[in-house]
Amino acid sequence: MTTQGFSPEFELIARHFTRPAANAVLGVGDDAALLTVTNGMDLAVSMDTMVSGTHFFPDVNPENLGHKALAVNLSDMAAMGAMPYWAVLALTLPAVDHGWLAAFSKGFFDLAEEFNVSLIGGDTTRGPLSLTVTIMGEVPAGAALRRGGAKAGNDIWVSGNIGDAALAVAHRHGKLVLEEADYHEAVMRLYEPSPRVALGQALRGVATATIDVSDGLLADLTHICRLSGVGATVELANVPVSSIGAKHLETDAGRTAIVAGGDDYELCFTAHPNSREIINDLTKMLGIPLTRVGQVKRGKGVSLMGPDGKAVKIDGRGYDHFKAP
Ligand code: ADP
Ligand code: MG
Repeated sequence: MTTQGFSPEFELIARHFTRPAANAVLGVGDDAALLTVTNGMDLAVSMDTMVSGTHFFPDVNPENLGHKALAVNLSDMAAMGAMPYWAVLALTLPAVDHGWLAAFSKGFFDLAEEFNVSLIGGDTTRGPLSLTVTIMGEVPAGAALRRGGAKAGNDIWVSGNIGDAALAVAHRHGKLVLEEADYHEAVMRLYEPSPRVALGQALRGVATATIDVSDGLLADLTHICRLSGVGATVELANVPVSSIGAKHLETDAGRTAIVAGGDDYELCFTAHPNSREIINDLTKMLGIPLTRVGQVKRGKGVSLMGPDGKAVKIDGRGYDHFKAP
């Protein structure tokens, strides 16, 4: 596209954020985008904001940030069992830096292409760096995975492994020390999470409740419990961790990061024990480890059990933006 004669704002949009929208009637450029929603499908809509200093370190590599801004939204589609199609992006920037924008949009569009998601619009303003993505997708009417369906006696499952992202954050905050190679590996989980979109869709009709782990395993499981009117126990020994996580399970700071830290973007879901075989088959089909970490109980609240059968206390149960310090 020729951008000569454009105002800086429109040049920025034209250069960095205008790509053909394969699955929309109309994409970037008009007052609104136009979409056709398939008959018999529910439209799933979700939004996530990322603020510099809160959701990412100000020195983050912009390509990683572009990836993450979309990945956290894809993860919400995964948690609903929805197929993501369309995204809109609100960008607030302190200044126009074309190098930064080119890297950011590369990270964003590389992931968008991988998932066949089109950027169909947005808004661009000046101010302290923050990014908001709204994502939209489709799910067969009535079949979405929700947080409210867990039943006493259900198993609790977690995909992949959790804790690395939060261990990297804890290292940056000086709460614990990772070996240098471990930090470099763990921080990639923080910057480039892999949203579990295929898994979410495969769990339709299998999972009774699902959430993606963004605030921390215990906090997110608490959301399932609250909406389902149940309680839960999690066995610490069964929580799936990487080889890095395994080195830090014994310390308070390490354990807290792993079970309460968040930013994992894995799926936590509940299912009837009769579904164990189907779920184990999914592990093989999708190549994603799925681990049974605990049990849904009558009552309320989530308890974490140590290997000795005693409850393990954890300081803080996940991130809350408005919690008093
Ligand atoms: P309006 O003034 O009508 O709200 P804008 O001038 O804000 O429209 O935007 C012009 C077009 O560019 C619209 O189609 C809008 O969706 C799109 N757009 C603006 N910012 C972005 C962005 N960061 N990413 C993608 N599309 C954008
Ligand atoms: Mg307008």
